[in-house]
Amino acid sequence: MSEHALDHLIKILSSLPNLGPRSARRVALHIIQNKETLMRPLAHTLLDAADTIQSCLVCGNLDTQSPCHICEDYKRNESVLCIVASVSDVWAIERTGHYKGHYHVLGGVLSAIDGIAPKDLNLDRLKIRIQNQDFEEIIIALSATVDGQTTAHYITDLLSDLNLTITGLARGIPMGGELDFLDEGTIGTAFKSRKNVE
Ligand SMILES: [Zn+2]
Repeated sequence: MSEHALDHLIKILSSLPNLGPRSARRVALHIIQNKETLMRPLAHTLLDAADTIQSCLVCGNLDTQSPCHICEDYKRNESVLCIVASVSDVWAIERTGHYKGHYHVLGGVLSAIDGIAPKDLNLDRLKIRIQNQDFEEIIIALSATVDGQTTAHYITDLLSDLNLTITGLARGIPMGGELDFLDEGTIGTAFKSRKNVE
């Protein structure tokens, strides 16, 4: 491995979330020292994932197929739709095992600071989906951050003329809490004690 390739590897690794240059160097060294057992399998897995993983055209989840396995699962409750900001939230909620409805992934939340406007989110498809399918309940499961709550209000307004039951996660979600960082028990409790959104 040339010095240049090593620098390149560290640079790419340090662009990963929660990995600064120092930890990136440590990870790079670990990968290099385990070339056959880790480095090559990792490279193959990444290439394979890059070729096969796609965004579900129905809900925005990531899967090797579109519609994704959750959208195609006939055993799930078709009358409940849970709106989340990101795929990591789908994973977090699935880990609880409490929720058996469908999802809609927005791909972020509205943010004045980050310049994320309604057109940047997966909202058009959300409205079409809700208009074309008889959902009995829409759960808005967004983080208890200012941006998350702003987005929740925006969606509630957007759907207000459709005469739906819209609920939000309740008790258990701390203010400023990102769903992805909460434990399964907390998310599960918040789901069970969800309440109607005004
Ligand atoms: Zn899907």
